[in-house]
Amino acid sequence: MPHRPAFRFAPSPNGELHLGHALSALVTWERARAAGGRFLLRIEDIDQGRCRPRYIARIIEDLAWLGLRWEEPVLRQSEHLTVYRSALARLEAMGVLYPCFATRREIAAALAASRGPRLDPDGAPLYPGLHKGLPPEEVRRRMAAGASYALRLDMTRAAALARELAGGKLAFTELAEDRTAQRIDCEPERWGDVVLARKDVAGSYHLCVVVDDARQGVTHVTRGRDLYAQTDIHRVLQPLLGLPEPLYHHHRLITDASGRKLAKSARDTSLRALREAGVTAADVRRRVGLLA
Ligand code: GLU
Repeated sequence: MPHRPAFRFAPSPNGELHLGHALSALVTWERARAAGGRFLLRIEDIDQGRCRPRYIARIIEDLAWLGLRWEEPVLRQSEHLTVYRSALARLEAMGVLYPCFATRREIAAALAASRGPRLDPDGAPLYPGLHKGLPPEEVRRRMAAGASYALRLDMTRAAALARELAGGKLAFTELAEDRTAQRIDCEPERWGDVVLARKDVAGSYHLCVVVDDARQGVTHVTRGRDLYAQTDIHRVLQPLLGLPEPLYHHHRLITDASGRKLAKSARDTSLRALREAGVTAADVRRRVGLLA
């Protein structure tokens, strides 16, 4: 098939996979199968401070136990740092990145002083813009002194430029549960100046996800509803980096008894714990609502 659709499951190895991940992997797998598409696995281990190699082995075990098969080789982000660095260099050359040396404490103090800062769609205060427009010699001085920093996207400039490159408007196509398509307008400015890398982390989730989806030829991004609003950030980066726009499907989330999204720390729903307790892969499908 010439342009075979490609789907991916992209977990971060920073804890045990749980029922929420099982739903995500299974929905992605089923959609890939229905489309006659490829199913890829990507290990999002760019943040080495939070990821642990032992969880990679567990991810592989859990997914195989669920009955999933993926193409080899599996892409591991930590093995491709130069790819993210060159994407950052491209954004830097476009003038849409700036280094921010502010500590957490400085940011908190600036937010406290601003009284009633605007909140992003996840409820976090927008970054107050410290160190935006720092003179280049000051940037060089601080970097030479070994200061820690985050590289932030100047969202106002980046979104304006991305809109220009995309023909005036930024939007994405969401495929609903029943596979009908809807065009969703983006408002990336509501996220403010997001972090795209840190001195010791080669790329943020936002940067790496768009770069990797493109280089793996992913045509269909299937992931949880919790990442729906963040897609606006990805739609800014794609035109700036000259990357194609995939289709999106943000599936329902599994919640616990109190209505909260499952967390990696919730041991009782980890796939490993369930497997060890004698639960079968078919039971998991039933529990996440994919089998009657
Ligand atoms: N690594 C991300 C997570 O575990 C996946 C993000 C995505 O599918 O785009 O939440």
